Amino acid sequence: MTRRIILFFGAPGSGKGTQSAWLSTQLGIASLSTGEMLRNQAKQDTPEGRRLKEILANGSLVSDSTVCEVVAARLSRGVPKSGLILDGFPRTLAQAKCLDDLVGKLGLDEPLVLHLDAEPQRLIERLTARRQCPTCRTIYNLRSLPSRGGLQCEMDGTDLVQRDDDKEAVIRRRFTEFESSCGPVIEHYRDRDYYRIPCAGRPDEIASQLLRVVVGESRQVAA
Ligand code: AMP
Repeated sequence: MTRRIILFFGAPGSGKGTQSAWLSTQLGIASLSTGEMLRNQAKQDTPEGRRLKEILANGSLVSDSTVCEVVAARLSRGVPKSGLILDGFPRTLAQAKCLDDLVGKLGLDEPLVLHLDAEPQRLIERLTARRQCPTCRTIYNLRSLPSRGGLQCEMDGTDLVQRDDDKEAVIRRRFTEFESSCGPVIEHYRDRDYYRIPCAGRPDEIASQLLRVVVGESRQVAA
């Protein structure tokens, strides 16, 4: 393993959170979700916290400058030798360019981009069934990945909740945002270490595919 950043890219509901958390455990690489970081900031009872809360509840994207600042601050605190997983960043071309600058400045390896690609209709069904534990943040799905504790988290028994932005109208807006910003990001990475992973299968099948890509890539980098 190297000081490399693994990027999870994909539409809302494509499984970035679930798969990045799984890969993080399998490989012992820390994983950071910009969505989680922003949701935490939005809990603060400050003008900035309230502004973020409104943007998140609307399903819009947070400004490039805010997200880049959050990511730059985190990466500047140090990237472990094993690397780092970034879930949900970059989402726009400006963010991808900002990450290029950071990678250069911090002397990191070229990022590995994992694009989870799935049909929008499947994703809408998946998102409306998504539930999360507010205590340990574990993600479940009422249909495809239910908790063994029913409507409670199987880890700690907390009642599962639905994210505000997982309501259908908001989901549709999040898709529109993604559709309009994803093309230039894909173009930016297409000729680099970029892998498009079709997400039609079961979560465990997708996970094995991701692991094969990441382990295969690490061997190439080490060779
Ligand atoms: P996620 O948890 O990745 O689905 O992100 C939830 C929400 O956080 C998104 O709908 C955006 O409002 C915001 N967000 C997360 N990551 C980014 C990003 N890289 N750029 C802009 N907004 C983001």
